[in-house]
Amino acid sequence: MRGLMMDYQLSIPAILRRAQAQFPHKTVTSRRPDNTVVRHTYADVLERARRLAVALVALGVKPGDRVATLAWAGHEHLEAYLAIPSIGAVLHTLNLRLHQDDLAYIVSDADDRVLILDESLLPLFEKFKAQVNITHVVVISHGAVVSGTQGSVSGCGRARPDGTFDYEQLLASADASRYVEPSIDEHDAAAMCYTSGTTGRPKGVLYSHRAIMLHSLAQGLRDCLALAEDDTVLPIVPMFHVNAWGLPFTAAWLGCNQVFAGPHLDPESVLSLLVSEKVTLTAGVPTVWLGVLQELDKHPGAFDLSRLRAIVIGGSAAPLSMIRAYQERHGLTIVHAWGMTEMTPLGTLCNVPSSMHEASDDEKYRYRAKQGTPMPLVEIRARAESGFTPWDGQTMGELEVRGPWIASQYYGATGADPRFSDDGWFGTGDIVTIADRGCIEIADRAKDLVKSGGEWISSVLLETALMGHPAVAEAAVIAVPHPRWDERPLAVVVLKPGHTATADDLLTFLEPTFAKWWLPDAIEFIDAIPRTSVGKFKKSTLREQYRERYQRM
Ligand code: AMP
Repeated sequence: MRGLMMDYQLSIPAILRRAQAQFPHKTVTSRRPDNTVVRHTYADVLERARRLAVALVALGVKPGDRVATLAWAGHEHLEAYLAIPSIGAVLHTLNLRLHQDDLAYIVSDADDRVLILDESLLPLFEKFKAQVNITHVVVISHGAVVSGTQGSVSGCGRARPDGTFDYEQLLASADASRYVEPSIDEHDAAAMCYTSGTTGRPKGVLYSHRAIMLHSLAQGLRDCLALAEDDTVLPIVPMFHVNAWGLPFTAAWLGCNQVFAGPHLDPESVLSLLVSEKVTLTAGVPTVWLGVLQELDKHPGAFDLSRLRAIVIGGSAAPLSMIRAYQERHGLTIVHAWGMTEMTPLGTLCNVPSSMHEASDDEKYRYRAKQGTPMPLVEIRARAESGFTPWDGQTMGELEVRGPWIASQYYGATGADPRFSDDGWFGTGDIVTIADRGCIEIADRAKDLVKSGGEWISSVLLETALMGHPAVAEAAVIAVPHPRWDERPLAVVVLKPGHTATADDLLTFLEPTFAKWWLPDAIEFIDAIPRTSVGKFKKSTLREQYRERYQRM
């Protein structure tokens, strides 16, 4: 039966309309590459987003066209987030840490028409522009433009190549009142990102308007991130990493102040923005927060973070020791989250349930180090060879998920993909245990598991435990070949500056927590763990590095 309720489309322009009506006074603060800080109201940003929308249409952008961004976090990027989907086009955020060949592949695969480019990234673009077919390039120059539109010199002194547009001039030339909201079907694509592609080519994921809107609604719930109008949100996660985990959309919709850190993601810069902007919620991968923790420990009491109510950590496992250290030494609460590019990205969040209010602190920390329970509208199950696993907190299986913000296929895919099951679930490739009431704990990416004598060893549990040793800054555990057991765990460890520990010290530290056969066969000490383009440990590089040496042993 049809016709019961209005056919109201869940689409990004609804965010703009609400922000305009209710939150024009709220602020967007951006730290620029030259370290200056600029402030805009939502009224300013929305006006500029409408100008950008009008200008893009004038450049010939049509509904469904992909418009790429290659830019740091800042108000211009937020304007692109809001403007591009609002003309029915697709916001495609490019990862500026990728190699030029990957960028060329991704831009070509997505068939991006227009590129909005930060001037500091012009040299990167120059390296792949001959391999792509971009019609228009719009350059954000963080300073006054000195001469006309063609090949001018920006305030930062870098020449803007011929044929490119200056972002500010383009906005100045457009009349915001000419913006006409197109009719958008909520199932149309609003945005896209590519998976990091550690195995094979990166794959595109298209996010529908509906997916982003429902993800934002759920993200705001009290059992999720509890976002409200009085929050100030600083995503340290880059704007190219799954839409900064959806936070710019959610924050604009709910009227939170937003803060963007530009390219300055070192601990001192992050801390200074958290303090000066009285941030209430921030988010990023564990490596950033391990660095910030060291800085906080170095200067106890120096930073007033009394307004900061949650640090959302995801992308890799947050070590229990880090969650405890933030809470006990600095009174700061970490909310552990799990998600994927294919999931817009949030899937589970870890908030201690009411049934554990009387539990001991140790039990609560143990719980908070898990990845948590699924958000409303996300369903989970785990599959082992013998069938779906019981929710006993012990049996490992591959996590499968379904829900309205989870991809049903990859962009441009032809033919069946085994990751999408016939009955409508997505195989995440993450090996988990699920405890009573649906709390997941990630043991590993399937490809990172150590399989020793036919039994699985979780590298994640070993490395998060090692990072609890007072001398250890970072630890990654990888599988290395073994003649008898097939694979054995090797720990690769970075010590904190000025600290010492031997391999025996670290093994003794692990002994009480793990079965003997789980303990790493060896520990290698290195200066830095290689990182992926989104700041996770790059275990494939470590495996290559150590495979041969251990093969010969
Ligand atoms: P990406 O698509 O680049 O965001 O990577 C998604 C993958 O990151 C997931 O499949 C997990 O393997 C990993 N991941 C994300 N969040 C967590 C977490 N909290 N703990 C452990 N692994 C995580």
